[in-house]
Amino acid sequence: MEIHRVFHEVDLKDIQPLGWLRKYLEIQRDGLTGHPEASGYPFDAAWWGVEEHQAGLGKPGYQTGFWGPYEQTAYWIDGAIRCGYLLHDEALVKKAGQPIDYVMAHPDQDGYLGPQFMKHGAESSRWPHVVFFRAWMARYSATGDKAILKALTDHYLSGTRAHIQDREVCNIEPMLWTYEKTGNGKLLRHAIEAYEEYNRLCKSKDNTVEVMLSDKRGTEHGVTYNEIGKLAAIAYMYTGNQRYLDAAINGFRKLERDQVLIDGVNSSTEALKGKDPLDSHETCDISDHAWALGYLLMATGRAEYADKIERACFNALPGAVMSNFRGLQYFSCPNQVLATSTSNHNDHFKGFTWMTFRPSPATECCPGDVHRAIPDFASRMWMKDDNNGLDAVLYSPGSVTTTVGEKDQEVTVVEETDYPFSETITFTIQAKTTVDFPFSLRIPGWCQKARISINGKPTAHEPQAGTFVTIRKIFKDGDQVRLELPMELKLSHWPKGGIGVERGPLVFALKIAEDWQESSDQDPISEDWRVVPGNKRSMPPEYPAWNLYPASPWNYALALDEKNLDQEVKVVTHPAGLTPWSPENAPIELQVPARRVDGWEIERPKSLVSNFVKSYDNANYMVTEAINGNFELTPDLPAPKTLPQRLSAKTEMVTLIPYGCTHLRISVFPQCKP
Ligand SMILES: [Zn+2]
Repeated sequence: MEIHRVFHEVDLKDIQPLGWLRKYLEIQRDGLTGHPEASGYPFDAAWWGVEEHQAGLGKPGYQTGFWGPYEQTAYWIDGAIRCGYLLHDEALVKKAGQPIDYVMAHPDQDGYLGPQFMKHGAESSRWPHVVFFRAWMARYSATGDKAILKALTDHYLSGTRAHIQDREVCNIEPMLWTYEKTGNGKLLRHAIEAYEEYNRLCKSKDNTVEVMLSDKRGTEHGVTYNEIGKLAAIAYMYTGNQRYLDAAINGFRKLERDQVLIDGVNSSTEALKGKDPLDSHETCDISDHAWALGYLLMATGRAEYADKIERACFNALPGAVMSNFRGLQYFSCPNQVLATSTSNHNDHFKGFTWMTFRPSPATECCPGDVHRAIPDFASRMWMKDDNNGLDAVLYSPGSVTTTVGEKDQEVTVVEETDYPFSETITFTIQAKTTVDFPFSLRIPGWCQKARISINGKPTAHEPQAGTFVTIRKIFKDGDQVRLELPMELKLSHWPKGGIGVERGPLVFALKIAEDWQESSDQDPISEDWRVVPGNKRSMPPEYPAWNLYPASPWNYALALDEKNLDQEVKVVTHPAGLTPWSPENAPIELQVPARRVDGWEIERPKSLVSNFVKSYDNANYMVTEAINGNFELTPDLPAPKTLPQRLSAKTEMVTLIPYGCTHLRISVFPQCKP
């Protein structure tokens, strides 16, 4: 079997997260990842693993015959089971694994797995199977349980679906994964036929091979763009068809050009939007964009995709989630100076609760998908290549134990670092004997002056930004490879004259004092849209919803001259500790000169026009209507033309902290003269 790719994943069982990364996963486990029922419907029912749901009957009062809850809970199953395996937490693995156990034990005679209505219903979709089976892939990676391969093979070869409609085509991801593990060529044929047929049938979609190869700007749903777009990279790996790879590369290049925000994730509300500081994304997009980029990284071996994964996971993800992992936003964005039950400034459900931090933001995809981002990141930190070399592709504290080199010898590499808050990463080799293997390190595209030393001695490598450097050597126990990645300050430029301040993989945002007020505001749709009579979103006392207000000024323009950043900005660093992702614990602060902007204030309209779902005659309709209320919205950047007259005379120093440490922020600023 020839597979066309540069990197492949190491097994989940071989990875050990350490330091802040381990702590982050523990906080997830102790928060919503370990307690999904706190998010209420549909996470309080084990959708994939309960008999009546299998039969399409449902618990009284619960929606049946709709694929949504199966997708949503499967996101959680995938994130939670990976988190459990990474932490070696048996209780979490058991909780998340129950639906897998149940469905695997109850295949149809023809091999089909899952609820009956998804087997036959013309209006239903097999998309949730993709999400669910990624959790099965994780389980195999952690346990090697061959029964998983048989069950997936039987399911996909049951002949019950062509997998060519919309996101159903994403089934080729688990299908080709199963092909690789089993060598069953029927799976390869079914997958590639489905992919080709999708490309023929859905010509107008943004993520067909042909349209991805074109220069057309994407307008598709953000999650769909990432999920289907990545298939081109996957299909390339198993066919060697260069056209597929070119399409994947160009599709994600266009996304970067047109939609990827300063925090590393494409805007999508819900369709792809632009790059304005108020353009927002669903939290789903954070997990899905990073996951999709992982396939481009494996297919091409290009360091730039690893840079992008880090950018999404170190900025957008923690910026959309509470530091205790007990609440998340549905929409989040580069500039959000408040997050309250009427502050959603995006047209989609404008004025609704969609930007608040809560355990159960509507709709229920994001409270499922949020669990995946960091466990997926940890799963893909280490990869291997065709030379049986080990590749450190994403950086964070952790270790890996695997076999390497021509002799397939076991080695453990321990990575000690506070990265992304530290510029130094130390890799220590642990081995019973000497081990000859290629060890590759990623040199991020932003790092011009990387240095490598071995056992304290600088090496002759001249690391080029945006490449991998391979150290070929006979390693012995205790050898240390030290990688230094000096992080320089940089300005980035955004629409409407906006500037952002970046340093290495981190984007910086104004530190705004946070006033958290518990809120009992329910999203209106949990009452009148969802077909769950009497089942309001649960909000147990330990998992309240919040209105979050700014308690310090935020209306600053940065008085920065791009050429003098090093003189103008003072970098203050603190030890990162294990819980760096909060405003209080931010390990890096930038002191930056700034001037207040007069009249740049929260907007408070009493009515606005919103696109939202309304129910009448027992059906749901998307409507565009004016609604009344006490709305409070983050304003757009002040117009560059009016800015000079509105600036305070005084220049003061303000504090910027990493985007991922903030819940309220300005990260795209107006720029003014010092
Ligand atoms: Zn979502």
